[in-house]
Parts: sequence; C-alpha cells; structure tokens
Amino acid sequence: MHSIPLPGTGPALPALGLGTWRIGESKVRRPLEVKAVRSALEMGWRLVDTAEMYGEGGSEEVIGLALAEAQRGGLRREELFLVSKVYPHNASRQGTVAACERSLRRLGVDRLDLYLLHWRGSVPLAETVQALQALVAAGRIARWGVSNFDVDDMQALWSVPGGDTCAANQVYYSITERGPAHSLLPWLRAHGVALMAYSPLDQGALAEDAALQALAERQGCSTAQLALAWLLAQPGVNALPKAVGEAHLRENLAAAEIVLTDEVKAGLAQRYPAPARKPPLAMI
Ligand code: NDP
Repeated sequence: MHSIPLPGTGPALPALGLGTWRIGESKVRRPLEVKAVRSALEMGWRLVDTAEMYGEGGSEEVIGLALAEAQRGGLRREELFLVSKVYPHNASRQGTVAACERSLRRLGVDRLDLYLLHWRGSVPLAETVQALQALVAAGRIARWGVSNFDVDDMQALWSVPGGDTCAANQVYYSITERGPAHSLLPWLRAHGVALMAYSPLDQGALAEDAALQALAERQGCSTAQLALAWLLAQPGVNALPKAVGEAHLRENLAAAEIVLTDEVKAGLAQRYPAPARKPPLAMI
C-alpha cells in the first residue's frame, strides 16, 4: 500500500484507512466489534479513523481494546496511524485540549497521528488552530487537520495564524459524489493538504451499483474494490471504508494493490463524469 506525504513531521498517511463510524454504539455488539478491529489490525490495516462523536466515545473505546489486544500479539503502536476528531462545540482553546485528552485516554495511547476539527462550527478558527498547535507542541498529536471544509472554508483557514499548517481535509468523496474533484481537490493539492475520502462506498450502496459492477468484472475485482481503487489512483487522496465483516475487511484491503486498466479507467470516466460546475460540498 502506498502512503501520502504530509506537511510537518510525523508518519506519512497510509492510502487506505479503516472507518469506524457506527461502531461502539452498542454494548451488545462490542465484543464482535473489538474482534473486527483487532482482525483488521492483524490483517494489515495501518490507519484507523475515529471521532469523539462516534458512539460518544464508544468507537474510540473499541479501538483502544482492539489495539491493546493486537499489541499483546506483537503490533507496535508506531505501526498504526490513528486519527480522531473534535466536535466543533468542543473546539475552543481549552475545550480542544480537554477533548483530545479524553480521546487519548479512551484509545489508550499517548499521541494521535492526526487530529481533525470534525466540521466548522461557531468557535473562531484562529482559536481552534491555536489549541491544535499547542497539542502538536505538547506532543499529544503529530499533526492536525479539518473535515467537511469546502474551498471557502480552506481559504478562511489559510487566513488565520498557523492555519496553513493544516495537513488534511476529510470530506465526502466517492465515484458518485464527485463534487470535491471540481475545485476542492485541486486547491488541496496546490497547498500540500491530503484529501481523506469518507463514505467511499456511499455507505455500502456502491457495492450494489450495477454499472460499477459491469466495469469491476472487466477489471477482475469486486464492485467495492473498484470504487476504492478509483479513489486510491488519485494523487493525494486517501480512502476510509468502514467495515466490520471479515470478508469486507480483506476485500477492501486488497483494493490498495489494484492497478486499473486503461479500458476500465475510460469506462469509469464515461459512466461517472466529473461535475462541470462546482456543487456545494456534500456532507453525511
Ligand atoms: P462507507 O462508504 O465506508 O460504507 C460502509 C458500509 O459498507 C458498511 O455497511 C459496510 O458493511 C459496507 N461495506 C464495506 N466494505 C464492503 C464491501 N467490500 N462490500 C460490500 N459492502 C461493504 O460508509 P461510512 O459512512 O461508514 O464512511 C466510512 C468512514 O468515513 C466512517 O466510518 C468514518 O470513519 C468516516 N466518516 C467521516 C465523516 C466526517 O464527517 N468526517 C462522515 C462520514 C463518515 P459492514 O460494516 O457490515 O462490513
């Protein structure tokens, strides 16, 4: 699997990461979810994406338990790239630091590799950036970024002190939700910011997409794999499929090794054209 270089110091961003939204919401499902995340780590997933919002800390707890088990099996913390996110209503100077400390405690680690502002809220960006930079200086996070920021939000971020040290922007981007390709992705590339594509399978719907399936057959891969391979073929783009099914985890991980044929690339471009005009940024 390739990695995406990020500005600043710290590990590069693995191209493919495990999404964990809707994990950690139920105590009944917890043992199965811990097992799923642990088996993901054992089969080679090297990036896990979570947020204080997911299961109100439950997702981070599940990851913490799975990571502890995997570490007992020999995985080293440095082998894993951990991403979490702060709620906008917690993103004040002190609130961000306190939220980060809670996330670290639930995950059972002393540092995050990337910490994102989940979406833009009412706290001034300058204040949140100050808090994020303080967390970097204290060694609690290696880098920081944002999520659900459109071009105008990125421009606003670049206008505040230190805003241009942002490493990544996590947005909804998939083969059917192509809005970011119009102007956000070019802007991010020009400024050295990675795009992390969330809901890359349209929350599972893309695995059932008939047109995509026909092209996947020509590529010799599954429909979900084609949706992921299309994202991973784009410079500066990472994809974050969520899965708890063991077969899904294996299938999605293997997508990182797929090289699309010219014929399939052309078929995808024809069936899923880039938007001619800039649409508003879609959010889930
Ligand atoms: P995805 O597009 O990743 O789809 C997940 C669904 O697809 C699950 O139901 C999963 O099933 C199913 N699935 C996974 N792999 C396959 C496969 N190979 N074949 C068929 N079905 C499959 O949706 P998400 O919305 O969860 O997005 C991914 C991640 O992005 C989130 O988990 C979260 O980490 C992040 N995210 C961030 C947001 C933000 O605002 N920053 C917003 C939304 C998501 P199963 O689980 O049963 O295996």
